[in-house]
Amino acid sequence: MPTPSADRRPEAPPRDFIRDIVSQDLVSGKHGGKVHTRFPPEPNGYLHIGHAKSICLNFGIALEYASPCNLRFDDTNPTKEDIEYVTAIQTDVKWLGFDWGSHVYFASDYFEQLYGFAVELIRKGKAYVDSLTADEIREHRGTLTEPGRESPYRHRSVDENIDLFARMRAGEFADGSVVLRAKIDMASGNINMRDPVLYRIRRATHYRTADQWCIYPLYDYAHPVSDAIEGITHSLCTLEFEDHRPFYDWVLDNTSVACHPQQIEFAKLNLSYTMMGKRKLIEMVQGQHVSGWDDPRMPTICGLRRRGYTPESVRNFCERIGVAKRENVVDIANLEHAIREDLNVRAPRVMAVLNPLKVVIENYPDGQVEEVDVINNPEDSSAGTRKVPFGRVLYIERDDFMEDPPKKFFRLSPGKEVRLRCAYFIKCTDVVKDPATGEVTELRASYDPATRGGDSPDGRKVKATLHWVSAERALDAEVRLYDRLFTIEDPAAEDNYLDHLNPHSLEVLRGAKAEPSLAGAHAGARYQFERLGYFCVDSDSSAGRLVFNRTVSLRDTWAKIQKNSGI
Ligand code: ATP
Ligand code: MG
Repeated sequence: MPTPSADRRPEAPPRDFIRDIVSQDLVSGKHGGKVHTRFPPEPNGYLHIGHAKSICLNFGIALEYASPCNLRFDDTNPTKEDIEYVTAIQTDVKWLGFDWGSHVYFASDYFEQLYGFAVELIRKGKAYVDSLTADEIREHRGTLTEPGRESPYRHRSVDENIDLFARMRAGEFADGSVVLRAKIDMASGNINMRDPVLYRIRRATHYRTADQWCIYPLYDYAHPVSDAIEGITHSLCTLEFEDHRPFYDWVLDNTSVACHPQQIEFAKLNLSYTMMGKRKLIEMVQGQHVSGWDDPRMPTICGLRRRGYTPESVRNFCERIGVAKRENVVDIANLEHAIREDLNVRAPRVMAVLNPLKVVIENYPDGQVEEVDVINNPEDSSAGTRKVPFGRVLYIERDDFMEDPPKKFFRLSPGKEVRLRCAYFIKCTDVVKDPATGEVTELRASYDPATRGGDSPDGRKVKATLHWVSAERALDAEVRLYDRLFTIEDPAAEDNYLDHLNPHSLEVLRGAKAEPSLAGAHAGARYQFERLGYFCVDSDSSAGRLVFNRTVSLRDTWAKIQKNSGI
């Protein structure tokens, strides 16, 4: 049993057609009145947000029915799989908050049983060794409109097939020279039923079974048998397997497996501006288009984690998009909304300046530093306040100043007064420029000592409140701003999706300044930088170096940009 901690068992579990089927089956006593699901990743890459949907569905059902959910590594393809991926997948499922307890399995542990059931099929006259080449098999398969043709080897005797299959296993034949096929119906309207291949010869070292085997079962055969061996009741998979279901059932009906799991298909998660699919994500990593599987721009679980996403936000997102039969594309703004909503409640507010502009408060005593009280989280009264040092020289955001502002610009400009958050009102008195470039290098200002805490005793109003840090006490920080990795909505549909990489998906700001309370912040810690967005401490940080990732901006600015640019 997974150990479904009581606090994770949902009070109002989501409803969908799969949960309806499971509930009905429990009432009718189908599958012996049991529920047993599994999440079956192939360890050929890292998990992505699409997998999170399947994880939340399979493990979510287990939590709701207090039933087990297996983590099964579907590792029947020796050339692509690796222990690195096994470890990463376990880390990610755990991080998402799910627990398989003792139920971790490997399809490669079933190789002997899978072989045995194949022999059973041969004995029943339901499988044969075919000596056609791969090309010939393809030619014989027919098309959607034309029936296939039988292989000349289809009528080999049971004894001959038993002998040939044993010799396949013993390594007597070259890779690709023979295969084991199911004997079903070459005229079937469903191409998957036209004598699909069950086993092929492949001399490759498997990461777990090494060179013990040179024949490997194909997914469509290994999957139903693995499900049955584990006593799975509901085998949930994505829609592209709908046409494979007759073969799934055929395998279970024609072998002496102990039970008959029920395959149910649901629509994959597709996210706009996001490319999923491990094969393509591997290309992104190997081609160094990103810094690795956990690049914060990647849709991988480890990428989202490094970006600052919380497991709760990913689970909430998966719950909200729901489970249905119809394919659709979910707007990525929904995922961003989920993390904003979560961090709004729990992330402490701090002040950091991404593009600093120095402000000297000329009437503030030189050398004086005072500590002002700043609220940690207006959404959480228990979060309290902290002290932030204020002094004569400060940094504000360069964007918060304009020398010649348009009418609607309410922030700082010459002669204008603004509030510095929880500190004082200041007025810009002078602008210092680089004589060579004309760039503004510094502002001179005066403050009103009567406005301490940010309120004016005479009821004077200002239209803007700016964040700030003390120049003397601020910490240097590197801040990484992320944007979408692709410029088009459906990169996976493009032959050359690399042509659509967003050249501005990463912007690194090396001169940022953060308030001193962030000293020693540990990797993964999440904050709201006031007025700027949600940020987390990156794993590249070290004792003397603070690196932040922007998880998400405060508002969905992308939607606005799209609207304005007519996209
Ligand atoms: P990929 O193409 O990314 O490798 P896959 O389906 O081949 O995906 P598996 O490791 O075989 O990857 O998947 C494990 C489980 O996750 C399967 O049950 C699969 O249906 C499910 N899954 C994969 N992608 C998605 C997705 N986008 N939405 C929902 N479930 C998914
Ligand atoms: Mg796969």
